[in-house]
Amino acid sequence: MKRITIIGGGASGTLLAINLLKYRGEERIEINLLEKRPSVGHGVAFGTSHEVHLLNVPAGKMGAFPDDVEHFHRWLNAKGHDHGADAFVPRKYFAEYLNATLDDARRNLPSNMVLNLYDVEAVDVDLEETGAKVICAEGDIFYSEAVVLAFGNFLPPHPSVPDLKFTNATKYFQDAWSPAVETDIDPLDSVLIIGTGLSMADMVMRLADKNHLGRITAISTRGLLPAVHRLGFSHPPFYDELRGKKKITELLKEVRHQIEAAESDSGDWRAVIDSLRPFTQQIWLDLPLSEKRYFKQHLSRYWNAARHRMPPETAAVLAELQSDGRLEILKGRLQSIEHYENFDVKYSFEGAKKTIRADAIINCIGSESNFAKLDAPLVQNLFAKGALRSDPLNFGLDAYPDGAVIRANGERSQFLFTLGTALKGTLWESTAIPEIRTQARDLAERLLEN
Ligand SMILES: Cc1cc2nc3c(=O)[nH]c(=O)nc-3n(C[C@H](O)[C@H](O)[C@H](O)COP(=O)(O)OP(=O)(O)OC[C@H]3O[C@@H](n4cnc5c(N)ncnc54)[C@H](O)[C@@H]3O)c2cc1C
Repeated sequence: MKRITIIGGGASGTLLAINLLKYRGEERIEINLLEKRPSVGHGVAFGTSHEVHLLNVPAGKMGAFPDDVEHFHRWLNAKGHDHGADAFVPRKYFAEYLNATLDDARRNLPSNMVLNLYDVEAVDVDLEETGAKVICAEGDIFYSEAVVLAFGNFLPPHPSVPDLKFTNATKYFQDAWSPAVETDIDPLDSVLIIGTGLSMADMVMRLADKNHLGRITAISTRGLLPAVHRLGFSHPPFYDELRGKKKITELLKEVRHQIEAAESDSGDWRAVIDSLRPFTQQIWLDLPLSEKRYFKQHLSRYWNAARHRMPPETAAVLAELQSDGRLEILKGRLQSIEHYENFDVKYSFEGAKKTIRADAIINCIGSESNFAKLDAPLVQNLFAKGALRSDPLNFGLDAYPDGAVIRANGERSQFLFTLGTALKGTLWESTAIPEIRTQARDLAERLLEN
């Protein structure tokens, strides 16, 4: 018998379970999917019930299976949601879809397969000679021949300012998705959002949808907004021109050249970036560490803004609020945040010191990627026993491209695997469904091998 325990029932854990359930061999397989939230398939990304929170990938590309990317779109239409393949639909549909796809996979299972869902929080894994023992806060224990860490996104770090006393204020929201953000921000509150990426856009959309009257300000070091999707263009793959290039500057030169060629032929730069998608992980794997470090420091923010784009509907709302003066996007480095009656935020921009006052602060810096700093018991316990280590760039966990994690002593773990966000250091592009569904399929095959 093989027992596989998946810790985390967000999109990654659910997709992995769906793929594991395809097994039709002889061995008895028991899959335990542990999720500390009340339901699986939601996670941070798809747990929102707001219609205005849209997928940032067109429906026609969000299918659960790499060989059937239209699967989600067909499901949507069959459910009576009449959207085209190019539509950016509410994210809540994707959670429904994952649950429906999991239910389908569970139907008519052969008698040697079982999937159990548990509403528990895993807090530790004891690694033994022949397997692993997953220990939960609720007291449950799961003996397993393989454990998959599908724990996804964590809370963001606090802003990097010297005095963090302000984090105790009730209107500082480290978790942008906590229900308190909905209930505790008053319509007239001035809101400061720290971060100007996709989560910031989500927060602005929600505030706008609730007819928020107070001023909204968003700040980041570069004040860079995500680019906006523009569909209907394509660009031929040009990996052959990139293969073997080991310097970021050389890669960038070729990408720029392709963009110039595309645009002089009525194309669009986004299609050039998108054409890199199937090769991005290989390009990253081939780069020396020093070049990855250079990329992290100088280019990663620009890459993220260009690669992970906003739906045009979202961009239109942001632009309207900006032109009405209700939303301001600032560029600057935070110097201090203090809280008295409200928040007093000092930042610097091009040598000048400036101040913003806000009634509420929402942290949209992005999931903490330095695992050594995480406040999660499971991660802390696994680090303490040397079962995990961070990747050299602190983008995630040190791991092999197939998901096997690397122990503190450099050995490949026999029983612990991961996928999704934790593999960012290994694969760079590893957070969106198109990458995760491939990892889920490949990891399922790997775990079911004898
Ligand atoms: C706001 C947001 C919007 C996004 N939108 C898109 C999009 O439109 N399209 C796209 O392709 N990608 C999107 N992404 C990228 C996203 O990261 C992935 O698509 C996907 O949701 C990641 O799923 P996950 O399961 O890896 O992580 P998560 O969604 O973070 O899920 C991890 C789950 O593990 C659970 N968990 C963690 N630790 C434990 C534990 N110890 N015990 C039990 N359970 C545990 C958590 O409760 C959580 O439910 C978005 C990301 C965010 C943050």
